[in-house]
Amino acid sequence: MSENKSQFCKQVEDNFQKACQYLDIDKDVLNQIRETNAIVHFKFPIRRDNGRIEVIEAWRAQHSHHRKPCKGGIRFAEIANEDEVKALAALMTYKCAIVEVPFGGAKGAVKIDSKKYSVAERERICRRLTFELHNKNFIGPGIDVPAPDYGSGEQEMAWISDTYSSLNHELNAPACVTGKPVAMGGVRGRTEATGMGVAFGLREICRNKVLMEKVGLPTDILGKRVTVQGFGNVGYHAAKYLSEMGARVTHIAEFEGIISNPEGLDIKSLAEFRQENKSFEKYPSGSFSKKRDDIFSVDCDIFVPAALENQIHEDNYKTIKAPIIGEAANGPITAIASQKLFEKGKIIVPDIYLNAGGVTVSYFEWVKNLSHIRFGRIDKRFDQGKFENMASLMSEVTQKDISSSLIEKFSKQGDEAQLIASGLEETMIEALRQIIEVVEENDYKIDLRTAAFVTAIKKVGKSYELAGIFPG
Ligand code: NAD
Repeated sequence: MSENKSQFCKQVEDNFQKACQYLDIDKDVLNQIRETNAIVHFKFPIRRDNGRIEVIEAWRAQHSHHRKPCKGGIRFAEIANEDEVKALAALMTYKCAIVEVPFGGAKGAVKIDSKKYSVAERERICRRLTFELHNKNFIGPGIDVPAPDYGSGEQEMAWISDTYSSLNHELNAPACVTGKPVAMGGVRGRTEATGMGVAFGLREICRNKVLMEKVGLPTDILGKRVTVQGFGNVGYHAAKYLSEMGARVTHIAEFEGIISNPEGLDIKSLAEFRQENKSFEKYPSGSFSKKRDDIFSVDCDIFVPAALENQIHEDNYKTIKAPIIGEAANGPITAIASQKLFEKGKIIVPDIYLNAGGVTVSYFEWVKNLSHIRFGRIDKRFDQGKFENMASLMSEVTQKDISSSLIEKFSKQGDEAQLIASGLEETMIEALRQIIEVVEENDYKIDLRTAAFVTAIKKVGKSYELAGIFPG
């Protein structure tokens, strides 16, 4: 496993180097962009429910200070290590730059399997972790803002926010962390954000005429056959929104096996069934197979790995039939497999773009916390009134009745969740436009991952240059 981890680190490094060939940036600036700016590695005790004291190991890496605060999740995973935290923090810098959220990249890890700890123990870990980060000046609304990641969720963020707020009686204290429950200053739509962003990103890829011509598919998401690996937060929401956009999700793999239906699976009912039965096995509207690794060779248009890293590698990349692979998980394809698949003409939509929906909506939450007002609260009724007035004016001028249902349709203003979804959609469309611009400049001979790195490094480099750190 540690080999995989250092491989992952090397992968990020290799992708960076590859992108540098397309960039006209001073090599000293590139060195500064590449390096991790700060990291803390610390250990702290917590009392287990059985009375024993356990020493917990943790890291927080701030990869880049070109924008502040730094931003990135905290992983709770038994296999966490410093290399991995640094690599993930670097990816966060590039991811934030791609979707233009004003943060430097960061990542944290707590080396535990959270499933082996009671709720009370996890609370003690989170509160002590926050003390430690606070004492080291590694947390704060303008310093470093964690978020959920593998093994952590809303509840952990609530404990972190509460502990930080009790140490800092400042107005903006809740902005020290994102991914909080709505009742504690979270934003509606954060939970589904990453999967929704994946769906928006894949829809936009399918709208690109040149790319679709290359793989011989029609330019639309409508009717595309989709296969998903992993039915957790990201996999479920990606499948749900892709279905709503008109794609046909035919196969989904989980630990127990694969569920399939050539007509398209009903994602909501499947999720409810699995929640209740803890398995796809007896789901009535699909066929079940225990061979979960067959998911890689399913005949489909889009394959969405949404489980873990290093799933597609040298030994299995040849079995992939899908012409489009959407990296919903972080690092699901190894560097070698990625290169080989690109050479075979596959479109790989890279993680640093495709799963950036989470950090985008985290940014909206942070802005909401700093502005102390829910999105849409001031203007919703006002805008609605404006549309209604306009409709009655039109009716007066034209001497024609405008139906109340039409007025309602046009005057309806978005609530917070709708505004968040609309901001996310705009972000994913604009970020892809910039990546495609690099692809076009290079006559489609550059892969989307390298193009995404190019756009990210350019933006980070620009802010160092403008800050005058590297004159000339
Ligand atoms: P999750 O734990 O909710 O879901 C992962 C699912 O994958 C689980 O249900 C697990 O059972 C399943 N799985 C694991 N190994 C599998 C295998 N071999 N075959 C089939 N299924 C398997 O996690 P998540 O939050 O959905 O994250 C998934 C990936 O997306 C991770 O790489 C994560 O880093 C990345 N990601 C998540 C977010 C987010 O907002 N949650 C944001 C960006 C990136």
